[in-house]
Amino acid sequence: MPERKITIAIDGYSSCGKSTIARAIAARLSYNYVDTGAMYRAVTLYALRNGLINGRNLDADGLIDQLEDIHIEFTFNQDTKVSEILLNGENVELFIRHMDVNDWVSQVSAVGEVRKKMVKLQQEMGKGKGIAMDGRDIGTTVFPDAELKIFMTADPDVRAQRRLDELESKQISASFEEVKENLLQRDHEDMNRSESPLRKALDAIVLDNTNITREEQLEFVIQLANDLILRKK
Ligand code: C5P
Repeated sequence: MPERKITIAIDGYSSCGKSTIARAIAARLSYNYVDTGAMYRAVTLYALRNGLINGRNLDADGLIDQLEDIHIEFTFNQDTKVSEILLNGENVELFIRHMDVNDWVSQVSAVGEVRKKMVKLQQEMGKGKGIAMDGRDIGTTVFPDAELKIFMTADPDVRAQRRLDELESKQISASFEEVKENLLQRDHEDMNRSESPLRKALDAIVLDNTNITREEQLEFVIQLANDLILRKK
């Protein structure tokens, strides 16, 4: 009998290491991995590049009008073994983590039509199961029936330092205060928007990784996943 495939939904606050864990789990189980934050970031980059963000304003109606022209897909980089995001065919992986995108992504992702389009794409990508997907609304909206739901959290100072380290490794300069303020601001906006706000699904398991290593987190989630995979329907 073929092994049962499950859907793994990983949600949580900004910069908790969701994508690191989701990617590692997918690699261990030979599952697909989808970084849904990258999708909202790519739409934000489109808005920035196409004059839909001016000064302090996002032209949400203009963005909605152009949604049909925004094509988002992933391509697998054989060298790095990581999937990378394409915006209208252009690999924009290098641009989507910059601070200007960070500053606007929560506002862009609060636009209902943007969410509808992204959620539909995500459901399509995960319809065959065997997927680990990370974001803010995966366990609540995208895959409410996911077999395994994890909700990640960590101390804000620890999160800010990790994000700063990640930015530095990509030669993107920012200060600790700026990074911390941005992630707390995004958490606030993500939790308080009307369309599928960030919240823990009732059946999600909380993983606070302030004081545990990446390996410990991975083993914890793999154990849970394997228990579900081996469980009979
Ligand atoms: O995960 P990441 O930090 O890259 O996500 C960037 C932003 O995209 C989040 O702060 C949130 O505003 C938005 N997002 C979302 N729903 C998701 C994934 C990300 O609203 N499923």
